[in-house]
Amino acid sequence: MYKTDYCGDLRASDEGKDVVLAGWVHRRRDLGGLIFVDLRDSRGLMQVVFAPEQAAAHAVASEARGEYVLRVTGKIERRRAGTENPKIVTGDIELRATAAEILNTAKTPPFYINEDVDVDEQLRLKHRYLDLRRERMHNNMVIRAKVVKYIRDFLTDRDFIEIETPVLANPTPEGARDYLVPSRVHPGTFYALPQSPQQFKQLLMVAGFERYFQIARCYRDEDLRADRQPEFTQLDLEMSFVEQNDILDLMEALYNGIAAAVRPDLNVPQPWPRITYAESMRRFGTDKPDIRFGLELVDFTNAVRGTEFVVFKSAVDSGGSVEGICVPGGAEFSRKEIDALTETAKQLGAKGLVTIGFTAAPDAATDDTVRAPALKFLGIDMVRSLGRLASANAGDLLLMVAGQGGLRSLEPGSADRVKPALDALRRSVAAKLDLIDKNTLGFAFVVDFPMFEWDEGSERWSAKHHLFTSCMEEDLGILESDPGAARSNAYDITCNGWEIGSGSIRIHQRDVQERVLKLLGISEAEAREKFGHMLDAFEYGAPPHGGFAPGIDRTVALFAQESDIREVIAFPKTKSATDLMTGAPLAVDQAALDVVGLMLKPKT
Ligand code: ASP
Repeated sequence: MYKTDYCGDLRASDEGKDVVLAGWVHRRRDLGGLIFVDLRDSRGLMQVVFAPEQAAAHAVASEARGEYVLRVTGKIERRRAGTENPKIVTGDIELRATAAEILNTAKTPPFYINEDVDVDEQLRLKHRYLDLRRERMHNNMVIRAKVVKYIRDFLTDRDFIEIETPVLANPTPEGARDYLVPSRVHPGTFYALPQSPQQFKQLLMVAGFERYFQIARCYRDEDLRADRQPEFTQLDLEMSFVEQNDILDLMEALYNGIAAAVRPDLNVPQPWPRITYAESMRRFGTDKPDIRFGLELVDFTNAVRGTEFVVFKSAVDSGGSVEGICVPGGAEFSRKEIDALTETAKQLGAKGLVTIGFTAAPDAATDDTVRAPALKFLGIDMVRSLGRLASANAGDLLLMVAGQGGLRSLEPGSADRVKPALDALRRSVAAKLDLIDKNTLGFAFVVDFPMFEWDEGSERWSAKHHLFTSCMEEDLGILESDPGAARSNAYDITCNGWEIGSGSIRIHQRDVQERVLKLLGISEAEAREKFGHMLDAFEYGAPPHGGFAPGIDRTVALFAQESDIREVIAFPKTKSATDLMTGAPLAVDQAALDVVGLMLKPKT
């Protein structure tokens, strides 16, 4: 071994100990006589003092520069009174160097490693090995490892067994786009990298394992956002002989346990609310609600019925809705602030924003105390009743959106134009008014998702979760007659406006699976080809089963309080799915393509 201890592990109780440390020069201060070096290793920092009397060691310290790799021998001493550094755990002590050697030199890094400053994203990704040396990134990786270890221990203690499933899997026609891998042995055929181990984990239930989990890498060729990467990691789990609440209880205990183990300083309100999809849409306008603040949606549709105000009238007459939020103190917002909110709403499909500001309580509202461009069309009586319905106080502002929408918004041709806008408004107003407690993790379960949603592009039903999801017993009868109203046994974990993971109780009977495949427009021949193994397996005593798959990257991002999952992935891809460090994806020559029987189309 090059060293006896890690820098970050030593404490005042180690005073007098002879140690050898090795690491990187984090910071160096040459005071003319004494030279101080903060030596950094994977567990923390140690201040090393080089005195001129130790000439050889001192000469090494004179030569060392930032990020040089050093080995230092010496004795741990207490720092002189008044020179302690309470900001670091080793701040009471220092190493008096008696010998030192440079193990390697370093060029000046392209960005500061010892300071938490904003660095150009491209530069960070190109030199990721340097970016990962920075304290924040290093800590994120440590949190990630702790989360994964906690999960493994927790599930193993509860009789789950960890089983690996193939990465070279079968292409699937549903869901996101597959990453394809050409087969050399069978030219013209392809494996797909798994979007999730869904089919395999269900087959493991048929195989009699009852409790399976895996920390599984999954691949989806989708357009990327802050919470998406082409490859990501899921905690994939599946259980037999369970009902929905068994799985939800387990997940709640798991996440509460992770929080207590990894970030006991964060608040996790208990118990987690279990909200139906319909309720979540009604109250928050989204199926991934941020429940850390109020500003819940108010439905004004009935209250505005009969108005001549054309914006509201045309929405109501065409079966749409008029909904809004009440912003405390918002009557003070300037024209410019309201314009910005209007822009937010418009980006999400709203035609515009109707605003009513109350400088007096709604009951006492007069033409002089209301600030509403639509006042003359609505009339003061209606304005009062809208204010009352929203429980507005003096000083509050109603933000209202009218348009196509309503509860049955999954029906063909009825995409909701109201709720997405209000969801965005709700979140941006909360951020603006500082209503969000950043140290709270507001977990919730959203349950009773619809079975299907109408896909405008292909003009057919698609599975809202995935095609193996079972239908609620009481809705089986309307599966074919009213697919848009059928609810599934699917559920999500959400937190602070993010979807952390989804799961469902599965179909385990061949005839039911065939009904669903048919509804999704999958022909019998295609079903046999693509899902024959599942259908067959269901005929050999498939137990009732269900599972869950929360994203590890999103989970770690929450606990690390990062808003982009790339900050918790060691080597992520850019938003255009490239690796700036290695250059992947790269072209290969025709000889390599020949081996797998492929020819590239000429560029047009
Ligand atoms: N396989 C699903 C997914 O990746 C999760 C599940 O149903 O367990 O979203």
